[in-house]
Amino acid sequence: MKITIRPDVVEFYHSTTFEKNEDIWWVQMLSFLAGKTVTVDTTTLFPDRFSIVPVTDDKSIWLCIPEDMVSNVIDDMRIGKGHCGWCGELTELPNEITDRQQLKCTECGQKGFVEILKVR
Ligand SMILES: [Zn+2]
Repeated sequence: MKITIRPDVVEFYHSTTFEKNEDIWWVQMLSFLAGKTVTVDTTTLFPDRFSIVPVTDDKSIWLCIPEDMVSNVIDDMRIGKGHCGWCGELTELPNEITDRQQLKCTECGQKGFVEILKVR
């Protein structure tokens, strides 16, 4: 699974962040990532962001990219999956969802904590 970072991500960040709150390091990372297609760490999938495998020379840097900074998702593995807010694991969704509140996590068995991973 891969994502493409929107080419205008730096401008997007400036437009959505108060100037005094801007993080210079993050702006440099976004400049580096703008327009690039990068690999997602699929061991944990989230409803609103992507953890990506290290892309810089420093392999200890793991970045999390918010959904709205992404222009394209390739081989989306979120289809049919949910994220459990109780145990934090990925869970399989039933084929038919009648009541979101009653969704049960296939990993820990808790009900009511499963968030459906949205797919574009
Ligand atoms: Zn769970």
